[in-house]
Amino acid sequence: MPQESDGGRPRRRSAASPSKSAGKGDQTKRTRRLRLIPLGGVGEVGKNCLLLEQGTDMVLIDVGVKFPEEELLGIDLIIPDLSYVAEHVEQLRAIVITHGHEDHLGALPFVLRQLNSAYPVPVYGSRLVLGMARAKLEEHRALALCDLQEIDFGTKVHLGSIRIEFFPVGHSIPDASGLIIESAFGTIVHTSDFKFGEMPQSGLDRLHAVAQHGVQLLLSDTVRIESAEPTRSEAEVAKTIHDIMAAADGRVILTTFASNLARVNSVMQAAHQLGRHVAVAGRSLDRNLGIAREEGYIKVPDDLLVSLDRAEKLPANQVVLLTTGSQGEPSSALGRMAVGEHRLLRIRQGDTIILSSSPIPGNEQTVSSTIDNLFRAGALVHYSPITPALHASGHASRREIGQMMDLIKPAYAVPMHGEYRMMVLFRQLAAEHGIPADHVLLPEIGRAIDVTQDGARLGGTVASGSVLVDGLTVGAVDHVVLRDRRALASDGIMVISAAMDRASGRLVRTPEILARGFLPAEDGQFLDEAVERIERSLRRGQPGELEYRIVGERMKESLAGFVYQRTRLRPMILPVIMEV
Ligand SMILES: [Zn+2]
Ligand SMILES: [Zn+2]
Repeated sequence: MPQESDGGRPRRRSAASPSKSAGKGDQTKRTRRLRLIPLGGVGEVGKNCLLLEQGTDMVLIDVGVKFPEEELLGIDLIIPDLSYVAEHVEQLRAIVITHGHEDHLGALPFVLRQLNSAYPVPVYGSRLVLGMARAKLEEHRALALCDLQEIDFGTKVHLGSIRIEFFPVGHSIPDASGLIIESAFGTIVHTSDFKFGEMPQSGLDRLHAVAQHGVQLLLSDTVRIESAEPTRSEAEVAKTIHDIMAAADGRVILTTFASNLARVNSVMQAAHQLGRHVAVAGRSLDRNLGIAREEGYIKVPDDLLVSLDRAEKLPANQVVLLTTGSQGEPSSALGRMAVGEHRLLRIRQGDTIILSSSPIPGNEQTVSSTIDNLFRAGALVHYSPITPALHASGHASRREIGQMMDLIKPAYAVPMHGEYRMMVLFRQLAAEHGIPADHVLLPEIGRAIDVTQDGARLGGTVASGSVLVDGLTVGAVDHVVLRDRRALASDGIMVISAAMDRASGRLVRTPEILARGFLPAEDGQFLDEAVERIERSLRRGQPGELEYRIVGERMKESLAGFVYQRTRLRPMILPVIMEV
């Protein structure tokens, strides 16, 4: 790849669609600033997505997913709403992905569909990122919607009037990058996810050089700012895993995040040194490991890896099972093993189990009950509060974020990748490192940060929000569907069925009520009274006046009123009326 490459698409349609381009005054104003618009990942952790806009050039940095909290019943994923970019898709020069984690890459197939570009969208990333992107796009049959372009560290890509250079950062996945963004209004350093302790020297050198020329704005990872402790190194974790494995007499079963390829590599190397074979249980782990080996990031001999069947036949002290399920997910390989429901694998007396991860906030209970089940099955379990050195975060602690501020010495700073309190802590920390509070901008989803000749400040807003992915449908689930699911989950459902005479509008027989998940309905008397109430409410209408829709509404209202009055519950009520 050449040192400078002309990236992105030519400005094809901008001249041909004058109706879409802004007026002249507007145009001048637009060219006089660089807008940074977070479309996700600020004030929250997940679905990272940042739009750069300068003149008629747009560049998207990261398109991540967020995993839903439990109250979003049945929702699989949340992705950023990119309708603003879709409206101007002819100005989109490229999507740039900093690393292969789901909260940065996961929404790519959905986003490409949402953008609906007439041309394949150029997607830039390192070799490993593109390997992971390709697998994901193939699975979603979306590969043709983009044009994958590999980028090396140190290469500058020209994306219209914006130039971007990748530099290497330390993180929990190989090939993670930060970005040096050169605009007409100064240099911006975007750390993306990083930890300072394991920054490659070449990355530090590059940042040092950039800082010499003055950096206008620093966009920094904030997610671990609450932690004062320095981030543990992967080498320390690797040693802990090695020592536990060396001391184990039986099988070793280890789980970690499928995307934590640094950890997966540590496990592989330890197994190799100790003469054990590794079998992988879990599709996402298997896929990521395959990509990392193919792209040369994990180097182990082929015969180190064996199938699950083969592992079952080997002597226990020659086996490492690497499985998904670090968050205790019941459907994961480890989750199923823990309750004896895995198709092939059983936990045995004498197994050593290592949870090399820490629970994501909110998952503590699920992880704890999985650990209980593993102990119950007779295994010895090592997990992070007991053996802290089993996990290292991929993110900078408070002190490391300060180190980054000292290295870059930016005029302005913006906390990214964190919840609101973390962003406020970032502003406090910045003050300690010589960046005044009014030069720290707290970003909001959909609100622009305008960078001009005069500095940076918060600007206007664009359309933004979340899109919910439910199974194979994207965006179709809205708050109405969610409200229904919540009502179903908490209070159950009642179906009233009735038959109505078309001519007279009268019921031809007593309505019937069917209930599921609504306990009082077990009580026959309760149902009888409910039916009586419904009939009474219908008698109020004049013959011939009642029509299907009104009867349905009236039955629903009277039943809901009765149920609430008696039980303080609000089950979902569905009237079903047949005309006879
Ligand atoms: Zn990450
Ligand atoms: Zn991240």
